[in-house]
Amino acid sequence: MITRNVICLKAVVYNIYLMNSKEKKEYIIRVYGDPVLRKQAEPLTEINDDILSLIGTMSNIMDKYLGIGLAAPQVGRSIQLIVVDLALGNDALKLFPMINPEIIETSGSWTMEEGCLSVPDIREKVIRPQHVHVRYVNTDGNEMEMEADDLLGRVILHEVDHLNGILFVDRISSIKLQLLKKSLRELSKNSSLNVKEQSG
Ligand SMILES: [Zn+2]
Repeated sequence: MITRNVICLKAVVYNIYLMNSKEKKEYIIRVYGDPVLRKQAEPLTEINDDILSLIGTMSNIMDKYLGIGLAAPQVGRSIQLIVVDLALGNDALKLFPMINPEIIETSGSWTMEEGCLSVPDIREKVIRPQHVHVRYVNTDGNEMEMEADDLLGRVILHEVDHLNGILFVDRISSIKLQLLKKSLRELSKNSSLNVKEQSG
């Protein structure tokens, strides 16, 4: 039984404080309306301490919010890095970073309700491919390939979407999107407020 069968399960928390090496850094989960969520993320050319530290931070966030996947733009970094919980919440967290992930091939189709930490309190059914073939770089800098089906494939597709500036609400029907317009507008307002608070 999958107990955490949604992506980014919990309601929004705008500010996340985490111990990161010696200093206390503040990480903000970027919410719908924040421009960083709409940018094409840059490929990573180097896996340095900064990136390894970021992976640790993203893992902590997933641990805290019981997420099964998180993409770097969701913490404000427009780089091609995602972290996926390969155990999908069934076991002790088995966090798995994927650098520069690239979807090589997909097949099949299935529907499941999704949510997202960056689109809080909204859940909708999304049609996605059932089988995914992905190429990525691991933290040792080696190029790897993986076949992923069903939920794991869905999580990877959802997170890779984030790297391309796509959110799950972009993949729902226009009628459903119309119904969500007001909620999304509210999120956008909060998002810009949040950005202002941070810079002020
Ligand atoms: Zn998401």
